[in-house]
Amino acid sequence: MFLPTLREAPAEAEVPSHKLMLRAGMIRKLASGIYSYLPLGLRVIRKVERIIREEMDRAGAQEVLLPAIQPRELWDKSGRWNVYGKELLRFKDRHDHHYCIAPTHEEVITDVVRREVRSYRQLPLILYQIQTKFRDEIRPRFGIMRGREFGMKDAYSFDADDEGAEKSYQRMYEAYCRIFKRCGLKFKVVEAETGPIGGSFSHEFMVLADTGEDAIVSCSECHYAANAEKAEVTSPDPASSLSTPLKPLEKVYTPEIKAVSEVSEFLGVFPQELVKTLIFQTDDGVVAALVRGDHEINHVKLRNFLGSHVLELADEQTIVGVTGAPVGFAGAIGLHNIRIIADNAIRGMRNFVMGANEKDFHYINVNLDRDFKVDSFGDVRMITSQDRCPKCGGLIQFFRGIEVGHVFKLGTKYSEALNATYLDKEGKERLLVMGCYGIGVGRTVAAAIEQNHDSDGIIFPITIAPFQVIILPLDMSDRMIAETAESLYKSLISKEIEVLLDDRQEWAGIKFKDGDLIGIPIRVTIGRKTLDKGSLEVTLRSKRATHLVKPHEAPSFIEELIKKEIYDQTE
Ligand SMILES: [Zn+2]
Repeated sequence: MFLPTLREAPAEAEVPSHKLMLRAGMIRKLASGIYSYLPLGLRVIRKVERIIREEMDRAGAQEVLLPAIQPRELWDKSGRWNVYGKELLRFKDRHDHHYCIAPTHEEVITDVVRREVRSYRQLPLILYQIQTKFRDEIRPRFGIMRGREFGMKDAYSFDADDEGAEKSYQRMYEAYCRIFKRCGLKFKVVEAETGPIGGSFSHEFMVLADTGEDAIVSCSECHYAANAEKAEVTSPDPASSLSTPLKPLEKVYTPEIKAVSEVSEFLGVFPQELVKTLIFQTDDGVVAALVRGDHEINHVKLRNFLGSHVLELADEQTIVGVTGAPVGFAGAIGLHNIRIIADNAIRGMRNFVMGANEKDFHYINVNLDRDFKVDSFGDVRMITSQDRCPKCGGLIQFFRGIEVGHVFKLGTKYSEALNATYLDKEGKERLLVMGCYGIGVGRTVAAAIEQNHDSDGIIFPITIAPFQVIILPLDMSDRMIAETAESLYKSLISKEIEVLLDDRQEWAGIKFKDGDLIGIPIRVTIGRKTLDKGSLEVTLRSKRATHLVKPHEAPSFIEELIKKEIYDQTE
C-alpha cells in the first residue's frame, strides 16, 4: 500500500482538512492549487463520485463526458470570453487558434444539445459529467478546497418551458440533498447569488464548518437561509426619524483622523452616526457609494444594482482626482459629476458625520437633500446580526459554511446566445429553458473532513471512507496473531467488505496512530492479551466504543456493524 503518512503537516496548510489530507497521505501538492491524489485520497474521491452517479442516474440524468479544452469561438458566442476575467485560463495552439481550459461547461453542452434536439418530444433532458475543471484562482488555498484544478460534477437540464425547468430544478435539488446526506454531511441549503454563471435564481448547499469561507445567515423562526452576500436587508421605516430637527452644517478639524473608529472616537459619536463614502470604478466610470459607518458595503449587491461587470475600489490617484482630498476624507458634499448611490439605511439618518473632501476635515450635522443629493437608494450593504429576517422579521443567526453544491435556474441565457431551439407541438420554434447544477467532488471530501475529525486525525463517515475496516495485528512476528489477522482479512474480503491489513513490522503505537490518522471507521485490534482470552477488539473510530468479539464471529459482527453505521448515517 502506497500510503505515505506524515507526523507533521507542512506549515502552509491552514485548515484541518488540508493538514489531515497531507498527513494521511491522501494528496500531494504539485504547484499552487494543483494536487496529485494518492491511493487513499483517490479511493475517497471515487466513493463520493459513486454516490453522485447513483443519485444522478436515479434522478433521470444521463452521463456524458465533454472536452476540457474548448475553442474561443464558442465562448465568444456566449459573450463570456471577455467577461469571465482572469480565472479563465486562455492559450493558443500551434496554429495560433485561441482556446481555454474550461472552468464550467454551459457553452459546450448547449452546443451539443442544440445540434441534436429538434422537437419537444426529446425533452426534458438532463445531462451530467464528472470531470476536471480549471479556474485560475488568484489565491488558491486550503488544499483541494480552493484549488485551481479540481474535479466537479456538473449537470445541465433542458426543458420546453419554465414550468418544466422548475421541475428539473426541484429534481436536482432533491438529488443533491440525498447525495450530501449519503456523504455523511451536515448541510444547509441557502439562497445564493448567481455570479458569473448567470441565471434567475440559485441555491447553494453549504456544509457547516467554522473554517468555511462563506458567511451564511438563517432565520431562527422560519426556513429562510441565504448566503450573507445575497441576504436581503429590510430597512426600518425612515419616517420615525423625520421629526428630528436639522442642525446647522459644520466643518470640523480632524487631523490625521480617517478610519470610522478613529473619527467616532475623536468626535465622541457612535459609528452608526457616520456615513462612509466609497469610490468605485465601474463600467460607466467612477461611482460613489454611501453606507452607514457601522455597515459594510456588499460588492455583489452594489454590482447588481449598478448592472456593472467591473466593480473595484478606485485607486488612490482616482480618489484624489474625484474628491480633491487624500484617501480617508471622502464625502458626498460637493461631489459633482459622479453618480451617488446610497444604502437604504442612510434615508433615516439625521445630523450625521461625513468626510469633507478636504485633508484633515469632516462635516458634522450633515443632512440628505439639504446638503447633498443622492441619485439612487438601494439595498447595497451586508446584513448584520442587528437586522431582521426579510421573510418574517425573526432574529437572524450567522454561520460559516463551505459551498459544496450549487444549483442555478439559468432560463434562456445560453440557449439565446447559442441559438438553442426546439419545435413545440404547434411546430413553432422556441428557446430551450436551462438549469445547471454543480458539485465540487474534492471539496465535498475536504468538507467531510472539516466536519469529521479530532486531534488524532480524520473520522470518515463510513459511506465515503477509503476502507471500511482496518485490521491492526499488534505483533506480526507472533504466528497466532498473524494467522488470525490474515484469516479475518480473507473472510472480510469474501464478504466484499473493504479492508486494510496493517501487516507492517512496526511498533503498535505507530500502527494505532496511523490508523487513527487515516480515519478508517472500524478498527480490529489483534493482540496477545485479548487473543489468549479468545477474543479480538472491534472499535468504532467515531465513538471509541470497543467490543470484544470471538475471531470466528468477527466477520458477521463487522458486517452487521457496517450496515448499522450506514443506516444511522443516512436515516
Ligand atoms: Zn424568518
